[in-house]
Amino acid sequence: MDQVLDNVNNMNMSGKSVHKVLCTLNIKPTNQRIKIAKFILVKDQHLSAEDIFSSLNNNKCGISRATVYNTLNLFADKGLVRRVIIDSSKIYYDSKTTPHSHYYNVDTGEISDFEFNNAQISSLPTLPKDTVQEGIDIVVRVKNSK
Ligand SMILES: [Zn+2]
Repeated sequence: MDQVLDNVNNMNMSGKSVHKVLCTLNIKPTNQRIKIAKFILVKDQHLSAEDIFSSLNNNKCGISRATVYNTLNLFADKGLVRRVIIDSSKIYYDSKTTPHSHYYNVDTGEISDFEFNNAQISSLPTLPKDTVQEGIDIVVRVKNSK
């Protein structure tokens, strides 16, 4: 599966290859899901569900807001995209699924990637009972200095 996702990150996906990737991840490749996947996976980017909904509807795709939200949740759960949660009202979907961290500019709303793969966080607090650590997401909030 990692190989499939690496390929996703390194190519401009045709409809046929998107179809194949969805099948590999056990996602039923409906026409709407293929359109949404092609739109997101065309390059490394961070998009909100509203960005995707508006853009697709400007192209007269006729995909409902609910379908966009449901599809993005499915894609994130299957590992096709990664959720970047800035706060509860700012959730973005990242087409780059390899490990990386984010800068979030509070002035512009821009999200950018940086590599920070060997991050060591010492003395993490004890995890809540009956949980294991799944990962650590790092978002560095920045603001314009001038
Ligand atoms: Zn990213």
